[in-house]
Amino acid sequence: MHKTESLREADRLMTICNACRYCEGLCAVFPAMELRRTFGDGDLNYLANLCHQCGACYSDCQYSPPHEFNVNVPAVLAKVRNESYARYTWPGFLSGAFARNGFVMTLLTAASVAGFVIGFVVFSAPAALWSANAGDFYRVMPHGIMVALFGATALYAIAAFVFSLRAYWREIHGDAPRTGLAAFWQAVGDSVSLRYLGGGGGGCTSEDERPSTARRIYHHFTFYGFLACFAATSVATLYHYAFGWQAPYAIVSLPVLLGIVGGIGLLIGPAGLFVLARKRDPKLTDPTRRGMDTAFIAMLFLTSFTGLLLMGLRDTSAMGSLLAIHLGVVLGLFLSLPYGKFVHGLYRYLALVKYAGERRYGSFVD
Ligand code: SF4
Ligand code: SF4
Repeated sequence: MHKTESLREADRLMTICNACRYCEGLCAVFPAMELRRTFGDGDLNYLANLCHQCGACYSDCQYSPPHEFNVNVPAVLAKVRNESYARYTWPGFLSGAFARNGFVMTLLTAASVAGFVIGFVVFSAPAALWSANAGDFYRVMPHGIMVALFGATALYAIAAFVFSLRAYWREIHGDAPRTGLAAFWQAVGDSVSLRYLGGGGGGCTSEDERPSTARRIYHHFTFYGFLACFAATSVATLYHYAFGWQAPYAIVSLPVLLGIVGGIGLLIGPAGLFVLARKRDPKLTDPTRRGMDTAFIAMLFLTSFTGLLLMGLRDTSAMGSLLAIHLGVVLGLFLSLPYGKFVHGLYRYLALVKYAGERRYGSFVD
């Protein structure tokens, strides 16, 4: 017996699709479905996280409304997928953050920005907020304190991801044979190329019935922008600890260039995804989680915007206040990562690992 109404509906649809099989060439969901005759909660949470919500199976379906079968795979899998984030979250009492994500993110960010403003005034001096400090952030907030604060937050987020993903993997994989390393590599390739965000060829049909690659392109900007920003921080850490090269770094240095490139990607990608989300056909979505989607892309955009602004104005008297705002936004983003849309990439990656394992080793689940 399924735990929720969405899971019951997904079971009904997968049973119809398994008899029909018309959409088997569109994405990974249908071939994975065909390996099953029945669908437990774990199976449905696995299939839901394989779905990219491209909409192709809705526009191709002869049983979609107004047909009495009322088949709407993208919307039902979106609901199951969104509920799966809350189901496996760690610690469990924070699972409600997914339902009130926009509010939670706004509150966390506002509190973080206020915390940095007050912290600069109390521990540096009020003048720190309107001082250029020769572009040196560590004169306003010592390097050790910055590392301790963001390091502790990152460790907490990693712990939350590990516990949540372990619970997810246990439910979708159960007692199936161990997945080989090759499946993990295959899933990396499928993730970085967004292989299944293509609706079987021409792209997504979720905005209108004409396939478009725009959503895939903006996802790429977002994903690689995020990676470039992560690389910028990693290189700066290496400079600091391995070579003793202290910030601020020149505009043509590797960490700054990576940060600028990543920041531009994180402006273009989230802005494009925001525009596409507003154009998306609402009947293909889960309206209860629209706030979560918007909050995450808004936070990415804001992080990048404040970061680039800080970089451009770091030698002016606006540096102190911009630093407080940027660090507040970044801390808000970090704290909310395990309880927002960011997790969709991690769940999807594990679903792709399982899919690659099943394809490679040909398991059949009854
Ligand atoms: S979505 Fe419709 S056309 Fe596609 S497999 Fe399911 S029932 Fe068949
Ligand atoms: S919406 Fe796209 S990704 Fe999801 S099941 Fe349908 S075809 Fe596959």
